[in-house]
Amino acid sequence: MPPLPVKEAEKIGEYDLFVIGGGSGGLGTARRAASYGAKVGLAEASHRLGGTCVNVGCVPKKVMWYTSEEASSLRHAAAYGFGNAEENDKIVASFNWPKLKKKRDAYIERLNGIYDRNLAKDGVDYHEGYASFVDKNTLNIKSLNGENYTIKAKKIVIAVGGKPHVPTDEEVPGASLGIDSDGFFELEEQPKRVAVVGAGYIAVELAGIFNGLGSETHLLIRHGAVLRTFDPMLSDVLLPWMEHVGMNVHKETGVTKVEKIDGGLRVHQKNGEPIDVDTVVWAIGRHANDNGLGLDKVGVKQDDKGNVIANEYQETNVEDIYALGDIGGKAELTPVAIAAGRRLSNRLFGPPEFKDDKLDYNDIPSVVFSHPPIGSVGLSEPDARKKYGESIKVYTTRFRDMSGAMLDENQKQPTAYKVICEGPNERVIGLHMIGVGSDEILQGFAVAIKCGATRKDFQATVAIHPTSAEEVVTIF
Ligand SMILES: Cc1cc2nc3c(=O)[nH]c(=O)nc-3n(C[C@H](O)[C@H](O)[C@H](O)COP(=O)(O)OP(=O)(O)OC[C@H]3O[C@@H](n4cnc5c(N)ncnc54)[C@H](O)[C@@H]3O)c2cc1C
Repeated sequence: MPPLPVKEAEKIGEYDLFVIGGGSGGLGTARRAASYGAKVGLAEASHRLGGTCVNVGCVPKKVMWYTSEEASSLRHAAAYGFGNAEENDKIVASFNWPKLKKKRDAYIERLNGIYDRNLAKDGVDYHEGYASFVDKNTLNIKSLNGENYTIKAKKIVIAVGGKPHVPTDEEVPGASLGIDSDGFFELEEQPKRVAVVGAGYIAVELAGIFNGLGSETHLLIRHGAVLRTFDPMLSDVLLPWMEHVGMNVHKETGVTKVEKIDGGLRVHQKNGEPIDVDTVVWAIGRHANDNGLGLDKVGVKQDDKGNVIANEYQETNVEDIYALGDIGGKAELTPVAIAAGRRLSNRLFGPPEFKDDKLDYNDIPSVVFSHPPIGSVGLSEPDARKKYGESIKVYTTRFRDMSGAMLDENQKQPTAYKVICEGPNERVIGLHMIGVGSDEILQGFAVAIKCGATRKDFQATVAIHPTSAEEVVTIF
């Protein structure tokens, strides 16, 4: 269903619930509330539903990750008896970025359509426009064609997400010559040479995609490791492998200036020679998307980074105004935003058994789509030591997984697992994995860890052979 025409939107009476933002969290909240019969409206400031995840995040990123994995399979195909290495490398080199982008965009557009139809099916009013607070129960909606109208709501949910952070030209001269992760998804051509700046999961993923698809890739990181909020083992294994497969990793550095040169951009760095590339991608973090939202008008509290402060029930300091998803700056992941939103709606509009429903933010599993992929749940070893001191036990294993059995030694990807246990029963409080299939293996183990599984439970589970995952139950 298309968004409400302004003339109709203006006439709507008071909503039970109005959601600002049509991304993962907003859609989850609105649809669940409507399923209980609440009168619900939702505003989305862009011309498409789905938010970051669907349009410029998880989904198109995963398509690109698969694309890069396909290239890797082709490179390995000769070792398994398909063609010969030279021919296969030529196929990889013939990769057609514009063709793939067109297909990927069409796929995303289909998803946008599905989100539209789902909102309509659930009876949620879709307002296409930018919402800002007038007072605690009133929002101004500036529609995409510039017309303004107001809506009223008993309760309002802020689910406006985040935005990529890019330094200003004052901070780093020429910074605006680069693009951010949103811009990555707009690239019409594959850059032959690219510099990705940042050490978080988005930087690691984008650099891995470029490198896998044959771009000369430079990764510039501030310290000596990537993924510094994760268990250190993961960076210790990933970073040397990234270098081994041809990525140029520049450590302990930073960009001091970007300048236009003939045929590209020159990146000046703190530590090392300038690097000439076609594209610079800033992936140095994200910040709250609160510009123009008018939070000050209603006194909603934010932290010093602009994240909206909400308690475990997603309540802000202002009664009947809630916040969830990336705008809260906590566990910025799609399933977290969806789960927080659904639980909030369960609690506000659902049956009595949901009267205390809320999301438990502990033991949230997450994956980094690097090559090879990473899966992580629970506490990292440093965090576990900080919390439990000497009562933790750490079990690790490193090996080459069997998908590399027919490959040359230098093509075999590394695998490393770490299980962290605590207390006399050795409850499993952390699992960190890097290696082929880690992205898919983790979910099941995350269930076990959420249920409080111990080393004994892991050991009592019969291994599946021959898999990599079996090492998680035989690691002890
Ligand atoms: C490159 C990248 C890769 C990612 N990969 C993964 C992944 O693999 N797995 C994972 O779980 N997560 C991933 N994420 C994170 C995930 O996308 C976010 O956690 C998730 O989208 C957050 O949902 P949200 O509802 O809080 O915000 P968003 O999805 O950002 O939605 C917010 C929406 O609000 C709209 N909006 C903003 N202000 C207003 C306003 N005033 N009025 C109306 N509308 C407004 C915005 O246009 C947007 O559509 C990735 C993110 C990025 C950037």
